[in-house]
Amino acid sequence: MRELKITPIKNGTVIDHIGNGLSLEVLRIIGVRDLDKDSTVSVALHVRSQKLGWKDIVKVENMELSPRKVNAIALIAPTASIAIIRDFKVSEKRVVDLPDRIVGVVRCPNPNCITNQKEPIESEFEVARRRPVVLRCTYCERLVDDFLRHLA
Ligand SMILES: [Zn+2]
Repeated sequence: MRELKITPIKNGTVIDHIGNGLSLEVLRIIGVRDLDKDSTVSVALHVRSQKLGWKDIVKVENMELSPRKVNAIALIAPTASIAIIRDFKVSEKRVVDLPDRIVGVVRCPNPNCITNQKEPIESEFEVARRRPVVLRCTYCERLVDDFLRHLA
């Protein structure tokens, strides 16, 4: 069978073209525990892909990703594409794109950084390297490559 059959969903989000093996990280970003108890989450690991060789797919019912979560997914899975499903139809399609600046998604690991003080300053990073992604804090220049542990 060449094509993967996924049961259609009425409303929700399909995240396709996730790099092979990265879907569990994507699930952590989505925060599966916060979902509606009636929502089905489907995960397909190691699916053949013409574009990537192998890929993962995550499908979540009754959820649309916030822009913040899309940015976080861009950090972990820059090849992913996101389709918002409404009433069984793709109503929006987005290619995940890593912006040059990441604001408010990742916390600075430096406890002395001004963004970790009482000041009302949002964290801000610039992308120092893209493959693999390394971020540099705009305020204290601390480098971060372990985003999952520092998601805001
Ligand atoms: Zn910092």
